[in-house]
Amino acid sequence: MIDRLGRTIEYVRVSVTDRCNLRCRYCMPEDGVSWLSHARILRYEEIAQAVRVLAGLGVRRVKLTGGEPLCRTGLPALVRMLYTIDGIEEVTLTTNGLLLPAQAEALRDAGIEKVNLSLDSLRPDRYAALTRCGALSDALAGLDAAKRAGMRVKLNVVPIRDVNDDEIVDFIRFGRENGLVVRFIELMPVGLGAGRQGLSNAEILAVIEREFPGFAPFPEKLGNGPADCYGWPDGGTFGLIGAVHDRFCDRCNRVRLTADGMLRLCLAQPDGLDLMPYLRGGQPGLTEAVRNAIWRKPAGHAFLTEDTEDRMMNGIGG
Ligand code: SAM
Ligand code: SF4
Repeated sequence: MIDRLGRTIEYVRVSVTDRCNLRCRYCMPEDGVSWLSHARILRYEEIAQAVRVLAGLGVRRVKLTGGEPLCRTGLPALVRMLYTIDGIEEVTLTTNGLLLPAQAEALRDAGIEKVNLSLDSLRPDRYAALTRCGALSDALAGLDAAKRAGMRVKLNVVPIRDVNDDEIVDFIRFGRENGLVVRFIELMPVGLGAGRQGLSNAEILAVIEREFPGFAPFPEKLGNGPADCYGWPDGGTFGLIGAVHDRFCDRCNRVRLTADGMLRLCLAQPDGLDLMPYLRGGQPGLTEAVRNAIWRKPAGHAFLTEDTEDRMMNGIGG
């Protein structure tokens, strides 16, 4: 559907759990997290019901996220359910990849063809430090498993100043050698992202230009989202998502469904609609309520001028 600012909303990111098997320093605290109780988490049937309503309003693509979506058991069953919904054309996944070796085949069989794999360092010691408890070899095994299962994989990297910003060139090289699109995402001052500094698109481009000159902007889009894409004439592509400084809010195409049933209209704004009373409480009027909520989707983030959202990113789904 089209919102009050003329934006076409056709994409939903669904967080299936707030739990995660990593503790990335910019995303989740090491401990002391109060998890949602199982009773408060949407059941797969409830997620499907919400997506059915969204599909009726024009949503065509679903991204499963979290927390770590693969930590929730039976995810392929949800994927199959979503593909039965009229209007849903594509279900994809964003994951840290650790559980892909065990799950990639089943997810591919259920219809997942594209995966975004989040990987912020190619150095084992740094990966372990950044994620607090992860092994790079496990993430790379997940990458391999996804490729072997026939999925198209994009790497998502969040460069952070003085943490991993010296690996931009390594990631470009890794992407080119392995036929992967690498996308650099600007760190947002959400949750634990606040207080750390990301890199702007211009800074990242300058670094890549020094080592791998000759790329040009790609005319066509390479995915669902707001990435600016570039490629070299002899092959290799990368994308930049300038989430803070690029302000692509005027072309935002998405809403988010949190694990506890909030329809969030903007990642950076608390405004939303609690779907629980409709999905579980029997309250009538779900479609109308969702339509009204999407209509009032906020104009955009105010990361550069206002206090930021303090809810953790694992609860919103990235
Ligand atoms: N666990 C899965 C993963 O890591 O892909 C899915 C959930 S995670 C919240 C989704 C994405 O959000 C990841 O690519 C992660 O790097 C990104 N992310 C988390 N906090 C962020 C922040 N403050 N700014 C930008 N991206 C962030
Ligand atoms: Fe977990 Fe993803 Fe957050 Fe890392 S970015 S802690 S993998 S939810």
